[in-house]
Amino acid sequence: MNILVTGGAGYIGSIVVEELIGQGDHVIVFDNLYYGHRAAVHPDAVFVQGDLADRAAVKALFDVHSIEAVMHFASYTLVGESMQQPFKYIGDNVTNGLNLLQEAVAHGVRRFILSSTANLFDDPARMPIDEAERIVPGSPYGESKHILERMLYWLDRVHGFRYAALRYFNAAGASPTGERGEDHTPETHLIPLVLQAALGQREHIVVFGDDYPTRDGTCVRDYIHVTDLAQAHILALQALDGGSRTYNLGNGQGFTVQEVIEACREVTGRQIKAVIGRRRPGDPATLIASSDKIRRELGWQPRYPDLRTIVEHAWAWHRSHPDGYEN
Ligand code: UDP
Repeated sequence: MNILVTGGAGYIGSIVVEELIGQGDHVIVFDNLYYGHRAAVHPDAVFVQGDLADRAAVKALFDVHSIEAVMHFASYTLVGESMQQPFKYIGDNVTNGLNLLQEAVAHGVRRFILSSTANLFDDPARMPIDEAERIVPGSPYGESKHILERMLYWLDRVHGFRYAALRYFNAAGASPTGERGEDHTPETHLIPLVLQAALGQREHIVVFGDDYPTRDGTCVRDYIHVTDLAQAHILALQALDGGSRTYNLGNGQGFTVQEVIEACREVTGRQIKAVIGRRRPGDPATLIASSDKIRRELGWQPRYPDLRTIVEHAWAWHRSHPDGYEN
């Protein structure tokens, strides 16, 4: 299939591209490289540098390539930043997605996978969180994904659009090939920060609060291997002819910040200094996904469910790419 992947030079997008090419799809990556890396794009993908804000560029993309399906990763993704700059999120993320959707519809493309988020669930009534949970976006970032999910709902009703919205919990790890992994500037995610401390690139890791109502007082999150996420995209795309769908995607088990740091110490064999700091505003104590629905409906099974393997793959990537994609 000819698949357009927006944000295919980013962390998750680039690993999805690797998997798609591995199974024989033809991939067109569209990325403005603000945050993505040219070197992250699989050499067999067609790469087009461009911005979704540029409607003419998006139109040209669909005019030139016979696109049959879209996977949309390109977006601003920082929850904290979205609380400072809401228009970048409920503005740009939404209008860029709108440009993409309008051109997709205009060109007869009816298959679409949206990269969505656990930030839709700021006030969950039940844990683990399933798809029946009430949506309460935790930030303008979460709201921007919610708005895109709603657009997709209506495009399905009006245009017969078939979509899957995949709400990721904590994507982590690196490609098992060792070729692609996490390289964000600034880095805000726990595992890469802890591994930077293991590499001596930072003196310590700050634990954001140890007075939460959890087993050791630090926040519990559901870390899902990025390759397992990628597989979920592939399964979801294959299932679209059977109708649109929405899935929560995680491992279904939670680990505390302290447990993640301990796993990193074990895997790296290095000293990692942890300092207890203040809570980070907006962090819920516990976020765990129920992925029963995608397991049941699509037979999705995480290949790398245990935290150790996730950290081992991340460590292999960080050790071989201490400066990310720079060298
Ligand atoms: N965290 C931390 N120190 C850091 C970065 C993150 O203690 O330097 C914690 C954060 O409070 C959260 C967990 O690690 O409970 C995962 O954070 P991350 O930013 O990786 O993902 P999020 O859950 O915010 O999507």
